[in-house]
Amino acid sequence: MPYAWPKDADFTTWELDVLDRHCPGCGRMMHICDHRYRHFHTLTGPVELVCKLNHCPDSTCSGHARTKSPELEVTIAQPKWAIGWDVFCWIGHRRFSRHWAISQIQSELFDGYGIKLSEDSLARYVRHYQVMLAARQEDPEALLRQYEAVDEIILSIDGLQPEKGHETLYVVRELTQKRVWFAEALISATADEVRRLIAQAKTWADRLGKPVALWLSDRQDAFVTGIAAEFPGVPHRYCQNHFLRDVAKPVLELDSHAKVQMRKKVRGLRKIEQAVLKRHEVETAGDPAQDDAQAAITATGGPAVPLPLEADPAGAVVLEYCAAVRGILNDDQGGPLQPPGLRMAEALDEVRESIQRNLDEKKGGSQRSNWAAWPVASTAAASKSRPNKRRSAATSRTSRRLRRPLIPQRGVARTARNSSRS
Ligand SMILES: [Zn+2]
Repeated sequence: MPYAWPKDADFTTWELDVLDRHCPGCGRMMHICDHRYRHFHTLTGPVELVCKLNHCPDSTCSGHARTKSPELEVTIAQPKWAIGWDVFCWIGHRRFSRHWAISQIQSELFDGYGIKLSEDSLARYVRHYQVMLAARQEDPEALLRQYEAVDEIILSIDGLQPEKGHETLYVVRELTQKRVWFAEALISATADEVRRLIAQAKTWADRLGKPVALWLSDRQDAFVTGIAAEFPGVPHRYCQNHFLRDVAKPVLELDSHAKVQMRKKVRGLRKIEQAVLKRHEVETAGDPAQDDAQAAITATGGPAVPLPLEADPAGAVVLEYCAAVRGILNDDQGGPLQPPGLRMAEALDEVRESIQRNLDEKKGGSQRSNWAAWPVASTAAASKSRPNKRRSAATSRTSRRLRRPLIPQRGVARTARNSSRS
């Protein structure tokens, strides 16, 4: 589909010549007979590419009727594309490495580079990218180069279900080079079908001329029998992540139980938040701007986003504590090595210590350690005490510090997710 350029598009002109201008028919120097004008986006702005087309001046030569395009044209943009390779790679990377949604890629391209593409054409580029990537992944010569210095290879097979209810995608990976060799969606994963994939892995390994030192998988029957049949004598080990997950099962069950108990105990966040907002409402009655903000809060059903309570810094701190605690209670990240309940307990401990520091500060440093009373204490602080300057300065400092450990540990979460797949 032709791309509709805006009238005020500011093109940079690039000119391209044919490099080898000898006629393929008779060897004479060819002449420029026409120009092809192309327009496409690059990350540095829209480009008008002028391709000088050549043909043989001898009308009796076979090189006369056929024009020759500049050799480098396809290295800048594929025919009929509205984007150059740089934009294409940018899109593919966002989609497949960072898993962005098409709509996110679309808005980011427009906001960051002024490149406007429809969702349809973006989806088409993404498909092109996928096909090219697959072709490159399976290119035997590229594979040979990558495995030149490798002595032996370690293979794994696993079934993944990208979306619940869909067919399972069987993935064969080579672990020394951390490379997906191939993947296939099997609607019925019979022993024969699975064995076919394992046989394909054998073909690949033979083609590389490298011995397979080890197979890793879970204990699905089809894997166990298929690998034994195709790779006799090659050790086959139960994947340690699966092993760890099974060993950790009773721990995770207890952890999950502890989490439920903690959630039962730490309650009443909404009540506290409503008390703060109510007091704020009374104090700012008659201020139309604040009324709007209040209405927005009511409409969304809860103070998910704390109000800018400049007039009530203590109330703002209480709201931040509530948001932080809610975040902790809703955080389900973690795996066998970082059980979510344990992380929750640690985070709640930090909140408790932080609140206690505030209380100590208020009392002039008195050592109070009545932990059990803390939710009551915070409610009381929110609804009764008037903030004084010294206290609010201290609490807002604390709340800023408080935020840090509450951000889910991304690295940890990712590791846990990945490991549960293999
Ligand atoms: Zn010629």
